[in-house]
Amino acid sequence: MTELTLKPLFNFDEMTLPPRVGNGFTGKDILSVDQFDREKLKYIFARAHEMRELVQRVGSCELLRGNVVTCLFYEPSTRTSSSFIAATDRLGGRVIPITQGVQFSSVSKGETLADTIRTVEQYSDVIVLRHPEVGSAQVAADYSDIPVINAGDGAGEHPTQALLDLFTIREEMGRIDGLKIAMVGDLRYGRTVHSLTRLLTQYDVSLRFVSPEILRLPLNIMNTVIDAGLDVRETHDVADVIENADVLYVTRVQKERFVDLAQYEEVKNHYVITPELMQRAKEKMVVMHPLPRVGEIHYTLDDDPRAAYFRQVKNGMFIRMALLAAVLGKA
Ligand code: ASP
Repeated sequence: MTELTLKPLFNFDEMTLPPRVGNGFTGKDILSVDQFDREKLKYIFARAHEMRELVQRVGSCELLRGNVVTCLFYEPSTRTSSSFIAATDRLGGRVIPITQGVQFSSVSKGETLADTIRTVEQYSDVIVLRHPEVGSAQVAADYSDIPVINAGDGAGEHPTQALLDLFTIREEMGRIDGLKIAMVGDLRYGRTVHSLTRLLTQYDVSLRFVSPEILRLPLNIMNTVIDAGLDVRETHDVADVIENADVLYVTRVQKERFVDLAQYEEVKNHYVITPELMQRAKEKMVVMHPLPRVGEIHYTLDDDPRAAYFRQVKNGMFIRMALLAAVLGKA
């Protein structure tokens, strides 16, 4: 009897996932800005441009159709969480939003981060995590088989914010090299400052750090800046930098990181950027802020064309669209 050879219904070799894009991001975690060199930044910025065009022309697409993104936020968030949700939505994917405070999840029953991660990875393709502890994103990535994107680990890093900040600087000023960038406010606990400063060491920029004594930039980050050979200075007075700055990056004093609230009270209103102060600034420069602001930038400044913080917010969605597509290997 001749043996019947059945033709396979599917050729599984041909049924592999969509072509992997040679961007070096596919399947990778995004934990720190240290993962980005100028080549990778160029790639993400180019993709963010495409995303902007896509949104402007047609609003959304189906690139992430069939993909699920879990947004797991152990700390409050407005922009980061909603922009990741909007980014997924506009790319045609779905979100599991654990963003209304983990008090509604099993974390309130005492579940560990490791178990929560190993649970949500069963349902999703990417985990976006915000957590109050420095290093928590790395811990999550160690437990997860799917990409983890760090959406802020305590006073550590906030890499996706730094990417959108750098993108905004380039969009607004037309370049990054050669700029004078001043960071103002809580440089000690401000994770966005930490990430942006580290990214900027790849460029030829001058950095000015303006803070009260107790909120100075951590020494390890300052050493990275010095090792990179950048022109850098520290001051307590924003008046020292206002005339020359091309970018004024203002930050909130991070109340939630203070052990001694009396100390917070002492420094909380240290800097307020006002229209009067801005009269001394260059005509072509930008004021940025990762937001939320709690008094550091006067509302009367919002109509000043140099106030870029809401344009910065919008760029966040394009950058996060680009990142999601990149880690999921979608062209
Ligand atoms: N939204 C930013 C962050 O999550 C800045 C801030 O909260 O002050 O780090």
